[in-house]
Amino acid sequence: MADTVVRIDNLVKRYKDLIALDHLTLEIKEGEVFGLLGPNGSGKTTTINCLLSLLAFDKGEIDIFGKKMTPTSYDIKREIGIIMQNVAVFDELTVYDNIDYFCGLYITDKEERKKCVEEAIRFVGLEDFTKFYPKKLSGGLLRRLNIACGIAHKPKLIILDEPTVAVDPQSRNRILEGIEELNRNGATIIYTSHYMEEVEQICTRIAIMDKGHKIAEGTKEELKKMIKNTETINVEVRDLTDDILAQVSGLPHVYSAVYNEGRLTVACSGGKHNLIRVLEVLQKHDMHIGRVYSELPTLNDVFLEITGKALRDKEE
Ligand code: ADP
Ligand code: MG
Repeated sequence: MADTVVRIDNLVKRYKDLIALDHLTLEIKEGEVFGLLGPNGSGKTTTINCLLSLLAFDKGEIDIFGKKMTPTSYDIKREIGIIMQNVAVFDELTVYDNIDYFCGLYITDKEERKKCVEEAIRFVGLEDFTKFYPKKLSGGLLRRLNIACGIAHKPKLIILDEPTVAVDPQSRNRILEGIEELNRNGATIIYTSHYMEEVEQICTRIAIMDKGHKIAEGTKEELKKMIKNTETINVEVRDLTDDILAQVSGLPHVYSAVYNEGRLTVACSGGKHNLIRVLEVLQKHDMHIGRVYSELPTLNDVFLEITGKALRDKEE
């Protein structure tokens, strides 16, 4: 059994009348890429701030590396790399000097630090920008600098709070691949996001949060097994009548069939050949069929089934 790196037990955090975290319990093991997935306002950043003792909480206990975490636990903090949601770098320092500054909080030996800083620069791909000031960097490069500042001292636990928000696809891929590499090199990762695709892509275990509650937890496969949806069939078809829709609804394994703006969406639970059965009904009525595709459940479906609402808006 891998060691427990982080243990959060019954954490409660209130902001006046608002309960931002409501008895949150989490256990993160060594070697995991642990995902905290939830919509904006679900309590991800509050969890991270409590975890790091940056924020006082009302109730609960937090251990990191088997020791109680307090605001003065410098020995624990030294082993943690933190990449905050809001980029936190100094505008008056160059890329190199920013990384050197943050690394210097933990590593005082000059030679060793130089090696670490250069490694971090290579790692995030900022070799061509070492003399740039943050204001001259694009959003994606700035995020990469933020990450380099957090990881240069080679922490054992790396916490990234929404590191890919408003980042171009190239930087996003680089960041996600970088996280996987840090994990392969031995770091335990905590990764928060409201992008379910990213969490699916890189996380070995996921806790889904909503309104300060953990609503589900497991690997992505386990999470998907918790819900009844096994397949969603989409068919572009014109002028579908209520009668035909009712026939589709009545097919075995179909628990929801909706027709909207020329698209038939059929949610199925179990069974084989669902797609063929749906198409047979349409064929029998001589309907013109356009694009057809079938989707496996996503973490969005998990969130939708448990909470009754979508994880995020389509246009986001
Ligand atoms: P997330 O990171 O998942 O978007 P947050 O942890 O930032 O969520 O916020 C959780 C809830 O706490 C939200 O309802 C948010 O509005 C509220 N909140 C966060 N920070 C504060 C604060 N400093 N004062 C009052 N309310 C806050
Ligand atoms: Mg947040």
